[in-house]
Amino acid sequence: MYVNIKFYFRFILLLTALGLFISCEQKPAKTVEIRGIYGNPKPFWDKDLNLIDLGVNAIFVHSGSIDHDMINRARSEELMVFAEFATLNGKNYVEKHPEAWAINEKGEKVQAASWFMGVCPTEPGFRQYRFDQLRDLLLEYDLDGVWMDYVHWHAQFEDPEPILPETCFCNHCLDDFSKDSGIEIPAMNGELGLTTRRWGAGESASDHEWLTHFMNRMKNEKNRKAKFISVTSFFDGNNLQAFTGETHGTITNNIEAPLKEGIPLSSVFQAEGSSKVYAALTEAEKSKISHRGKALAQLKNWLTKTL
Ligand SMILES: [Zn+2]
Repeated sequence: MYVNIKFYFRFILLLTALGLFISCEQKPAKTVEIRGIYGNPKPFWDKDLNLIDLGVNAIFVHSGSIDHDMINRARSEELMVFAEFATLNGKNYVEKHPEAWAINEKGEKVQAASWFMGVCPTEPGFRQYRFDQLRDLLLEYDLDGVWMDYVHWHAQFEDPEPILPETCFCNHCLDDFSKDSGIEIPAMNGELGLTTRRWGAGESASDHEWLTHFMNRMKNEKNRKAKFISVTSFFDGNNLQAFTGETHGTITNNIEAPLKEGIPLSSVFQAEGSSKVYAALTEAEKSKISHRGKALAQLKNWLTKTL
């Protein structure tokens, strides 16, 4: 019964997602009616049943179970084929690659949440592994679509009592989070913020490529105001204290200092009251006015009073 409920739930979700996709088209497009089943259709085929005769015109199959025989048989019945792809499912991976194990707020490896085992979403090896799998899948088979399944953190919401631990607090994620402490630029209408480094030219762009794209985007903007924000936090295992540092300034018209690795914006951000961009300041000068310096100063002040 539970399996049936889960199956129908997924089935409805699939139809809903596909319906939404169709309804988001700007121009009225041809409606594609998809009546799919999730799972390997072999038991039907073993009984010589034709799925079209059963009112089904698509199959959704775990990507690891797809092979050319299945595709050929589906095509001969004029069935559409969609691959289910276990995007952030870490089962069978984290056991062999503990560096990708999701970490909870206490710094411990999380346990499986019911039957689901998540993964650290930023661990480079895992990301590469999944991207390679997806590319190989698309190169190997002529599919009608890919269902990006498990696009969520380590959690289990398909249970009557959902398991929703907070993850991931590994070094990769904390490092990425601190780098992502972003910038707000009113002229760019919320395009940046926490996703600053992944914006525009993209996550894999070099610092120079990223900054070139950014300066082109800002070229005709008269309002060059910007605000850097950084959040520093302290967690003692029970309570979390967070401190926010902000620095207001402007984006210069040109690149004013050599780029510093990982922080290209510092070559074009000039804080209010400063005559130089961030990247041209000494560490001592920068720590007095920078968003990170301000957040850390608050943390230091709090620690001094509390400990
Ligand atoms: Zn992580």
